[in-house]
Amino acid sequence: MFDTILIANRGEIACRIIRTAKRLGIRTVTVYSDADATARHVTLADEAYRIGPPAAKESYLRIDAILDVARISGAQAIHPGYGFLSESAEFAEACEKSGVVFIGPPVAAIRAMGSKSTAKKIMQEAQVPLVPGYHGTNQNPDFLLQEAKKIGFPVIIKASAGGGGKGMRAVFQPQDFIEALGGAKRESMASFGDDHVLVEYYLTKPRHVEIQIFTDGQGNAVYLFERDCSIQRRHQKVLEESPAPGLTPKLREKMGNAAVVAAQSIGYVGAGTVEFLLNEDGSFFFMEMNTRLQVEHPVTEMITGQDLVEWQLRVAGGEQLPLAQQDLAISGHAIEVRIYAEDPSRDFLPAIGRISHLRTPAESTHLRIDTGIREGDEVSIHYDPMVAKLIVWDTDRTGALRRLKNALEDFQVVGVTTNIGFLGRIAAHPAFAAGDFDTGFIERHRSELFPETAPASDRILALACLDVLLRRAAEASSSAAASTDPYSPWHFTGGWRLNCDNHYNLYFLDGETPVTVTVHYRQSGFELELPGGEMLVRGQFNADGNILADLGGTRIMATVVRHGVDLTIMARGCSHTLMIYDPFAPDTEEAGVGGGLTAPMPGKVVAVLVETGAQVEKGAPLMILEAMKMEHTINSPREGVIAQINYGIGALVDDGAELLSLRIEEGP
Ligand code: ADP
Repeated sequence: MFDTILIANRGEIACRIIRTAKRLGIRTVTVYSDADATARHVTLADEAYRIGPPAAKESYLRIDAILDVARISGAQAIHPGYGFLSESAEFAEACEKSGVVFIGPPVAAIRAMGSKSTAKKIMQEAQVPLVPGYHGTNQNPDFLLQEAKKIGFPVIIKASAGGGGKGMRAVFQPQDFIEALGGAKRESMASFGDDHVLVEYYLTKPRHVEIQIFTDGQGNAVYLFERDCSIQRRHQKVLEESPAPGLTPKLREKMGNAAVVAAQSIGYVGAGTVEFLLNEDGSFFFMEMNTRLQVEHPVTEMITGQDLVEWQLRVAGGEQLPLAQQDLAISGHAIEVRIYAEDPSRDFLPAIGRISHLRTPAESTHLRIDTGIREGDEVSIHYDPMVAKLIVWDTDRTGALRRLKNALEDFQVVGVTTNIGFLGRIAAHPAFAAGDFDTGFIERHRSELFPETAPASDRILALACLDVLLRRAAEASSSAAASTDPYSPWHFTGGWRLNCDNHYNLYFLDGETPVTVTVHYRQSGFELELPGGEMLVRGQFNADGNILADLGGTRIMATVVRHGVDLTIMARGCSHTLMIYDPFAPDTEEAGVGGGLTAPMPGKVVAVLVETGAQVEKGAPLMILEAMKMEHTINSPREGVIAQINYGIGALVDDGAELLSLRIEEGP
């Protein structure tokens, strides 16, 4: 076993590896970019070295800088985590050359699986079942179309070098093939610098079921069962669980053995994942092999009671696998969700910003949180916008699902938009609970999973009012206590006015809708005139700063967080943000309207879809911005005329830059 390891990664996975290393008494060294100087992984490691500016290319992807740190720090081995250099054969080779152990498979195995086409050829020879398709080198469009016709439509075109769902197009009829091929090749070239594609049959209702395998240098191999990762958006995983609902022990064994054969056919050593598509009839097909630890490995750890990072360290240190196949068993059920800073209602556009408030449910044997982020940290444009992984375990799936729903309700993030509400809706969906899903689940249930934003409920408004009123009372009494005249009527916050009814108005903006709530002061509390009727409310802050509220006789606990003029109200799993609004301040309406036309994050203009002077409808697409490797359409927030276009194709824009300006056409 090693004395010192270097972790060439950041975020939650770096923290997770450090945790196991610490438990095993191994000294940890990590690296960081300027954006991460005070990041959690840096503070947890025994030593941390700066390797460059924020951009990954100039820091976490710099092989030379990382190997220098290994040398200076005396690290004997490097754990690459996932992403970054974890599947770089070049990096593994460079480690080998400089005499440091790469905690991962041999270089040849990474190379073999690095191309989807090569991997498929190898698997074909090893008789691992494949989706029928063409994986050869001929890239002539007409030839590929003929192959597609032979396979039979629908087909999927995939970037051979692909990953993260990029360079992938499903094609349902021959006449669409050539255009889709062009799109897949362009995207593949832009993302991977290589435009080779493969074509295969497109399964319409498959499940994504992958097998965790482990092999050592002595020829031992096991599978640690499956993970069902069918809940995907844009062909990327959102929720993973183990065991896969409905998978029979016989099929599990068959898939497990096929995965082990796949690994052995390339002389694999270490942790790996063999991904399959599983059809309703129980037939399954090899998709690809990931030659590293997966994001979703915790669900396997929860159901097997094993620490996969410990296994990796032992195997890399030359030890045998800790257990044989017959020693492994599944216990209970685990589900992981990926909490991302992103906006599901805007096609999962990544969000950036500072996490001004973070409260997480307590960890236990039933609940695990893997994160690299703390309150006050920044989610930046430079890296993956994952905030945390939340993993739950129980003796059965129903129990795990119940725990998941509760934990999501208790997971509070303010400052960046997250997918927490969306994950909660998946967890609460009856079809998901029934195990009735495949990779098309999110698309099929769009209307339930992406509800129209509802206006703030009376309960939310009442909590917002209560927060404002209780804070005012607290501020008044503290300034009264500090004053030379504590009994001055100016400190009184009871709303009393000479010759007036004792009431006044609170103003909020709910999205773009102004909401006014009239507050009447009563002996027993505040009587609010809410859109749905009157409600008597009262409450107090507890020691944690939460509001214990009595809303018309219903007692609940809620959290209200202020950031600037925004109030985020979180109660029983629902989260709503209102703006405290002053209707008498100048120009507030214009400020609200301008919002839709500004860049939501730094990015590059890839298309301008309108011209100056064009008349546009509300919702019309105006510009396409590429930000964090995803395209985002800027839509018109209202009807009007394009007055000015401030950026052209290829322009780099900053967060908040005004992209275009829009004028309301005066009526005749
Ligand atoms: P990437 O490496 O980009 O993540 P994968 O090959 O792992 O791409 O595929 C990602 C997802 O795309 C799969 O989990 C599945 O949902 C879908 N997919 C891939 N190939 C097929 C296919 N032949 N039929 C249906 N869906 C597919």
